[in-house]
Amino acid sequence: MAVQVELSERLKQLPPYLFLEIDKAKRAAIAEGRDVINLGVGDPDQATHPVIMDAMKKAIDDPANHHYPFDAGVPQLRTEIAKWFTGRFGVDLDPVSEIYPLIGSKEGLAHFPLAVINPGEKVLLTEPAYPAYQAAVTFAGGKIQYLPLKASNDFLPKISDIVESKNVKAIIVCYPNNPTAAVATKQFYTDLVRVCIEKNIIIVSDLAYSEVYYDGIKPPSILEVSGAKDIAIEFHSFSKTYYMTGWRLGWACGNTTLIAALAKVKSNVDSGVFNAIQHAGIAALHIDKVEIEDMRICYQERRDALINGLRSIGWKIDPPKGAFYVWAKIPSKFTDSMACSKAFLDEANIIVTPGVGFGKSGEGYVRMALTVPVERIHEAVQRLSKVLV
Ligand SMILES: *Cc1c(COP(=O)(O)O)cnc(C)c1O
Repeated sequence: MAVQVELSERLKQLPPYLFLEIDKAKRAAIAEGRDVINLGVGDPDQATHPVIMDAMKKAIDDPANHHYPFDAGVPQLRTEIAKWFTGRFGVDLDPVSEIYPLIGSKEGLAHFPLAVINPGEKVLLTEPAYPAYQAAVTFAGGKIQYLPLKASNDFLPKISDIVESKNVKAIIVCYPNNPTAAVATKQFYTDLVRVCIEKNIIIVSDLAYSEVYYDGIKPPSILEVSGAKDIAIEFHSFSKTYYMTGWRLGWACGNTTLIAALAKVKSNVDSGVFNAIQHAGIAALHIDKVEIEDMRICYQERRDALINGLRSIGWKIDPPKGAFYVWAKIPSKFTDSMACSKAFLDEANIIVTPGVGFGKSGEGYVRMALTVPVERIHEAVQRLSKVLV
């Protein structure tokens, strides 16, 4: 008789993968050779900057980089991150105790709950959200209480909901937000820090999209708020800013106790970031601001092409404030976000992500990623003009 392997309860607790059906249809469409425009991927289509690649090539040739990295990484990376942080947010960080390198910010976000959440302890998660938070809290045995993000509150959680919550250990927020493309104000962070200090709630801020913003309005860091370092840890990433998604490099910064706790978890799980990649990261931090502006101009052009194009065919959508997504209320002819995504794929060979896949409050929306060139966006609008009538 065949033996049935038994998987862990924590794995079984993860929600079913809602994109499964869409994924299958997508693969089938591509296999059939249909000309698919994929607005479903949150991965930039551009190549990493040559300066970063050159630094990597050089670092690879140095045998000193071939060993286990020190836990806390190449010291120069942390000092360069500190310099960058002061320049960008006006916040000084101690490179030794307030910054820690990560194998991408997702890795840090996934491991952090293990450092602070006991089984049964409650974590507030905004939703719709990046799915990794839910999995991370579940793996640590935490209980999730969702805070819905609504257009009527600019896709920010209501501070009053946090005030009224009971026995909460931590909250995770992400602005610029994936998937809603909302940006938090400094006032929101000020209120959040005040409430969380009062209630002793650890704040986790995911700032993976800090540099992807529009119209010159820079998203703040929660660490700009006085007192934030008492209660908050913030996760940053090289992925989106420098077109480095595949390289796996990010950092955590903020409260020293939380940083040390995350470091302790990590020291038992991984052995740090490949040194050569850390040197590539140092090179990235030295890239001229003007070149980073090119990335924003690129997304701004795509955003304008998509928003203006869809408006011209009668689909009114609010432009994103940050990140490279357009979060669009589905046209009224569709019953729900899955039906909308399916129709776009079947009738126009366009892939968009159904909002419900990011959480229940995402129902009624689809997410479109600005990760294809302007010509393809024009083509997508053209095709959609026939679907929307
Ligand atoms: C892309 C993304 C990340 C992960 O970035 P990595 O540093 O590549 O792990 C984290 N949070 C959100 C919301 C993202 O969309």
